[in-house]
Amino acid sequence: MSTVLERSRTKTAGGPSGMKWRTIGLCKGSDTMVFYPDSDDDSLAEEAKTICSLCAVRKPCLEFALANREKHGVWGGLTERERRRVLRQRRRSA
Ligand code: SF4
Repeated sequence: MSTVLERSRTKTAGGPSGMKWRTIGLCKGSDTMVFYPDSDDDSLAEEAKTICSLCAVRKPCLEFALANREKHGVWGGLTERERRRVLRQRRRSA
């Protein structure tokens, strides 16, 4: 079964040296459905968010998702809706 990391393998933002975090993410090998729940219902993302909360690479993962405008799944502990909110807040404070 593919993982969050495998599904986005083609992304290159940050360059190869900036991608080392991917090899140690706690989601590596996890069930894809945990990190890509079927619905927009954020409550379905709780399991993924719990895993992310324990992950040592949460920050670079989140920044990667924000930089690449990842539209699906949980990245760095945030759902797509939460990432959009962060991006809006950053635009306002820029
Ligand atoms: S923060 Fe979450 S999505 Fe990102 S690498 Fe860690 S476990 Fe995976």
